Amino acid sequence: MEVITLGNETLRIKAAPVPEVTDEIRSLIREMFIVMEKADGVGLAAPQIGLSIRLFVLKADDGIERAFINPQIIQTSPETCSYEEGCLSVPKVWEKVIRPEKITVQALNERGRPFTLEADGLLARIIQHEYDHLDGILFIDRIDPAKKAKAEEKFLKKASKKDA
Ligand SMILES: [Zn+2]
Repeated sequence: MEVITLGNETLRIKAAPVPEVTDEIRSLIREMFIVMEKADGVGLAAPQIGLSIRLFVLKADDGIERAFINPQIIQTSPETCSYEEGCLSVPKVWEKVIRPEKITVQALNERGRPFTLEADGLLARIIQHEYDHLDGILFIDRIDPAKKAKAEEKFLKKASKKDA
């Protein structure tokens, strides 16, 4: 299991719902937590490992491992905040992104049971970032277009160096 990076088509596709929470999905979730920890990430969405399904995992500053299957953000606060984001699929790029400060999300947990979570702070930030991955959106899409172009250029330059 490897984290794919900018330029890979799967990152840009709207992911399909998970039809059923099976043992296979549960072991996938376990593996995703391992990949995330190894990469020093705080969140990982299935499209980032090349699987176009609506599932992500995260571990915010409360240290709790959470899995979200077929999530839906059902409410966002009018108040927004700015936070410097990075992404395992866009290595070495960090930019400030403005997002709603608080959100309410509904999803299935790894037992296939529905839950509703109200989140703010880092947790709300990670959920929104990972949720975007399920719709083929990257955090650089939410920054100033000039900065986005610069970030893409910086990344692609690095990638071509690696290929050489
Ligand atoms: Zn990301």
